Amino acid sequence: MNPSDWGYLQKIEPFGTVDGPGIRTVLFFAGCPLRCLYCHNPETWQAQRGEYLSVESLLSRIRRYVPYYGQVGGVTFSGGEPLMQSPFLLSCIRAFKAAGIHTALDTSGFGKHLVEEIVSAVDLIIYDLKTPDAQVYQALTSQNKAVTDDFLRHAQAAKTPLWIRQVVIPGRNDTLENLEATAQAIARLDFIERIEILPYHTMGTPKYAKLSLTYPLEGVPAMGLQEAKAFEAALIERVEFLKKQNTR
Ligand code: SF4
Repeated sequence: MNPSDWGYLQKIEPFGTVDGPGIRTVLFFAGCPLRCLYCHNPETWQAQRGEYLSVESLLSRIRRYVPYYGQVGGVTFSGGEPLMQSPFLLSCIRAFKAAGIHTALDTSGFGKHLVEEIVSAVDLIIYDLKTPDAQVYQALTSQNKAVTDDFLRHAQAAKTPLWIRQVVIPGRNDTLENLEATAQAIARLDFIERIEILPYHTMGTPKYAKLSLTYPLEGVPAMGLQEAKAFEAALIERVEFLKKQNTR
């Protein structure tokens, strides 16, 4: 048994429609080293929890969903942070691609092992650009932003298509200052296919009580869809403007 062919999954969502193009099976990897204040999946933080599976058994389970993927769908590795199980992740990407399945990695970019191999192998990276500011990143996630900056550099060198995402929280980062800094950061990147703002929501809060954890953003209201769309439109417009300036 090769240990890199086995890993822990918290759950499998057979037919997801928001984490990548088309209809996708979303695999939630167990383990995350970050502690984002707004995290709505705290049950995925612990490593070595959930179902222990081999790549082979996972692939055979997923094959039944493949006919629903059509031309653009596939599998998305999410979590938790899938990079926490880099050997298993890489084995999955390679096996699924060999089976003709499109692969996407939904990640914070917080990983140090096999990063070059992973970003070169995967078809799409859905990158959570939490904040362009190193100090804010530390306060928001309890980790060092330099790790995810390295990940992004490798992804750019591999020319892997990118979707950029950011969670926007009312009263925290729904500011012009964050919009401008985020636009500046995105405008420096290539191979971007999509930019998305995810409105902060509070649907994950009951999970904290269940896990006997204190919810750090208690009392912060959810962001409205309209506001999120407006923020997203302004961000995209600003990125396009800055990109045009950069090419002059
Ligand atoms: S990276 Fe994702 S799973 Fe990890 S703490 Fe942040 S929001 Fe939660």
